[in-house]
Amino acid sequence: MIARVSLEIALRKEFDYLIPPGLAGQIEAGSRVQVPFGARKVFGTVTALAEESALAHLKPILKIIGAQTMVTPKVLKLARWIAEYYCCAPEIALKSVLPEAVRKKKETEAGWKKQLFVRALPASGEFPKLPKRQREVWNIIEERREVLLTELVELAETTAATVRKLEDRGLVEITSEISERDPYAREYILPTQPLPLNPAQSAALEKIRRAMNRSEDRGLKMEDGRHLTPTLSLLLAGSQRGEGENPSSILHPPSLTFLLHGVTGSGKTEVYLQALAHALEQGKGAIVLVPEISLTPQTVERFKARFSSGKLQTLVAILHSHLSAGERHDEWHKIRQGRARIVIGARSAIFAPVEPLGLIIVDEEHEHTYKQEEAPRYHARDVAIMRGQMENAVVVLGSATPSLESYYNCKKGKYTLLELPERVDNRKMPHVRVVDMRQAARGEKGIPIFSPQLKEAITQRLERGEQTILFLNRRGYSTALQCPKCGYVANCPNCSLALTYHRPEQKLRCHICGFADAVPAVCPNEKCKNPAIRYAGLGTQKVEETLAKLFPNARVRRMDADTMKRKDDYRKTLGDFRTGKTDILVGTQMIAKGLHFPNVTLVGIIYADLALHQPDFRAGERIFQLLTQVAGRAGRGDVEGEVFVQAFTPFHPAIQYARHHDFTGFYEQEIEFREQLKYPPISRVALLTLRGRNEDKVKFSAEHLKRELEKNLASEEPLSWSREGGTTLSPPSGERAGARSALKDLIISGPAPAPLLRAESFYRYQIMLRTRAMSKLSQTLAKIIETLALPEDVTLAVDVDPVNFG
Ligand code: ADP
Ligand code: ZN
Repeated sequence: MIARVSLEIALRKEFDYLIPPGLAGQIEAGSRVQVPFGARKVFGTVTALAEESALAHLKPILKIIGAQTMVTPKVLKLARWIAEYYCCAPEIALKSVLPEAVRKKKETEAGWKKQLFVRALPASGEFPKLPKRQREVWNIIEERREVLLTELVELAETTAATVRKLEDRGLVEITSEISERDPYAREYILPTQPLPLNPAQSAALEKIRRAMNRSEDRGLKMEDGRHLTPTLSLLLAGSQRGEGENPSSILHPPSLTFLLHGVTGSGKTEVYLQALAHALEQGKGAIVLVPEISLTPQTVERFKARFSSGKLQTLVAILHSHLSAGERHDEWHKIRQGRARIVIGARSAIFAPVEPLGLIIVDEEHEHTYKQEEAPRYHARDVAIMRGQMENAVVVLGSATPSLESYYNCKKGKYTLLELPERVDNRKMPHVRVVDMRQAARGEKGIPIFSPQLKEAITQRLERGEQTILFLNRRGYSTALQCPKCGYVANCPNCSLALTYHRPEQKLRCHICGFADAVPAVCPNEKCKNPAIRYAGLGTQKVEETLAKLFPNARVRRMDADTMKRKDDYRKTLGDFRTGKTDILVGTQMIAKGLHFPNVTLVGIIYADLALHQPDFRAGERIFQLLTQVAGRAGRGDVEGEVFVQAFTPFHPAIQYARHHDFTGFYEQEIEFREQLKYPPISRVALLTLRGRNEDKVKFSAEHLKRELEKNLASEEPLSWSREGGTTLSPPSGERAGARSALKDLIISGPAPAPLLRAESFYRYQIMLRTRAMSKLSQTLAKIIETLALPEDVTLAVDVDPVNFG
């Protein structure tokens, strides 16, 4: 037998190896193996088995890693799709589906942790008379039945030698066993029961449950193992049951994907929890994706409390970057062994080996952190939908501010829209006031941070003992160091970006590459040397400082990437806020999401239009989402909430629609703009970025690439398939690449300098491609890239469905 192996060294190729007799029957698709490659030994994943190879003199596989297939065939298939759709090397896609901690396989590094356990043995014969120390130790063991040796030694204030004496007497046994690291073992979580749902929640849950029941019947397979398309299987199912009369139900099979659009505080999580319970009842598992930033102890606790509050239960596994490598290793294996059935995690948890998979939930589906910004540049929400389709699992996307993509798919009938239009318990949406900062700035020196209205509102809250959240999407003290005389701005030497002034450490810092520099005492411009160099712009540090001056008695805390450096900072700051030890919390987007503090009655957004000037067609959408999310932090208790939005463009539609909590209004006007410019969701985008230290070479390479693209993609002969494209997730089969496979609707723009032309001392030029038929484009792109000749020091990155245009 032959195994085809994808190696973990970037080669974009698979290699055949012999399966030696000693490993026969143990290797299957998905096994991790070690193989010889030249003089080296490298790791790889078996992607397929075959009877024979076209090549002679194959080398044998050296060994198999791990007892269980690491990548299940289903996840393997998903990785394949990622490589194709996101146009990256298969080995890179494969690598990303296993956590680093699981892939590394030196037993010592991050394997199972073994520890010594002491266990009482059943009594036989007369109980011996023990010396006092041994007696005391024995009492503890007897009471606990089983205890970690280290713990026992600590508890009994004794030594291992004393415990060994008990072992010699045959009273206890000491064994080395795997001890599972449970990152939440120390927490005591009170179990919760399902809440009675309100009518909107019930209706949503009912539809999800029905789809889950239906999907159970859908697991029909063709004889050769391929899955039927949902349409086809429904057609078959329908005709078997004599229900095939309604053609519309055949053309539009009820979708397995839902968009749960619920305003902030409408009880989406309770719907998730009860849908998860249904998956368990069906004997299936589930994955819950949460943005990294919302994966707080508070969030984890809500899920654990419902499904695994007992000490020994492992039903809920958590995967996120704050776990130690060992913890991640153990959590992953709990899932692989089927002991954990519900997985909660950030982006990469979408690859968790849950089987069978009944449900995937993507909370805050509009979040841009679901997009991975390095290869493979996948979008976890879209991977979730693909995985759902492949495994017949129901997918629920949830958000108070759905992405235009998902809402558009509802309008097109591809997803089913579920709505929770009101907050639970009839709590009111907060009252949003927009403050025109152009007026507030009148008669002031410079631009004020606080308008009189916001100042007044904060004063009231302090008097009433209520809490305030202030939001500014920029950390640091001020944006730039600028000389008012000559106009000099302190720029990063590596990036085309101004440095940010950080006051506590008296440094200028680049937020792109991390470069840090001392603050000059005079203007560094040789001809100027003005000592009155000034700071322009505003960051969270300055907000904090100004607050201290305005409200000397208020207890203020700041929460941003600079103050949240250690693992525990986040928990501690939020804990103090929750228990009322803090009056005002100042922060960046870190505080915008998911927090639930009933005593917060005021939210202030310092400069709402900061992000409007970004070179990104989603700028308006981002502002709308941000304002709605931040505003949603107010008034989650009994007192109605109030929100002040300070803006220099108060009549911008994104701000006005957010103010009126009008998502559909925003959607309608925004989709029109996207339609006109053929931006997503009307089309899909691939962004090609060329990068190198020599600007001319980068520019030249970009122009060369553009010509190649035109030659290969923009043929005049349109093919018929492109008409129905745009939404196909899997590539249409049987197409030939090359000049003939023109993409009728393709728009090629650029090359143009990237908005941030220079980053980390590399120049970047971009070409943007827009088409409805992205799968097709990806396929062709892969071929073009394979033969593309670029100078050695220029690299090309392909980003399919980009969210970051910087
Ligand atoms: P969302 O995720 O939509 O912002 P949450 O799920 O956080 O909203 O719900 C807000 C609060 O309302 C939570 O404290 C939750 O326990 C509570 N809640 C949810 N559903 C109900 C219900 N049916 N009855 C009473 N309280 C509920
Ligand atoms: Zn820099």
